Amino acid sequence: MRLLLVEDDAELGRRLGDRLRGAGFAVDLATTRADAEAWPEMEHIDAVVLDLGLPDGSGMDLLRHWRGGRVDTPILILTARGSWQDKVAGLNAGADDFVVKPVRFEELLARLNALLRRQSGQRESALEAGGIRLDPITREVTLDGAPLQLSRQEFRLLHLFLRRAGHVLPQADIIEHLYELGELRDRNTVEVLVGRLRRKVGTQRITTQRGLGYRFEK
Ligand code: CA
Repeated sequence: MRLLLVEDDAELGRRLGDRLRGAGFAVDLATTRADAEAWPEMEHIDAVVLDLGLPDGSGMDLLRHWRGGRVDTPILILTARGSWQDKVAGLNAGADDFVVKPVRFEELLARLNALLRRQSGQRESALEAGGIRLDPITREVTLDGAPLQLSRQEFRLLHLFLRRAGHVLPQADIIEHLYELGELRDRNTVEVLVGRLRRKVGTQRITTQRGLGYRFEK
């Protein structure tokens, strides 16, 4: 899953970015309202974490701009403690949820995963298909009940596959959702990554749909 984190506080942005990457997300970081508003690949962002106080404008205006432009990406806002007005205004402007600063990472992660789950119509926190179970919060993956060790990228890819189990996943979609802006991305990298994941989860679980992409078989 790929996130856009909009946060002008460099230290907080770095810290949250690191921890979100550690939790299996690809994270793009924007530090100003102008940067975020002009983000080049908004359609490939799975969720936004938006700080309301930005140096060149209000995150609230950005939120209204996105919702007015029919951007329906889940958005979680970061609000100041005690500011119930921000929470109400944010939710009314189209935010899906909020976390109060100072941010407790575990809460942010739980709320983000809940948003993504709601969006994909899932109720359970863990995703399951084809004997594989992936818990996005604990990052535990099991194959027929046995623990499976995955690299960060393999985890991201499996998460994406499980969210779209049974559907063809075009290679371009994998690239867009898996890699951060500016990261090296090409088709060979995806092929190698899919190959590595296949060896771990069983080759028959991920089929190649010639000319279309890959499918995780339920
Ligand atoms: Ca700020």
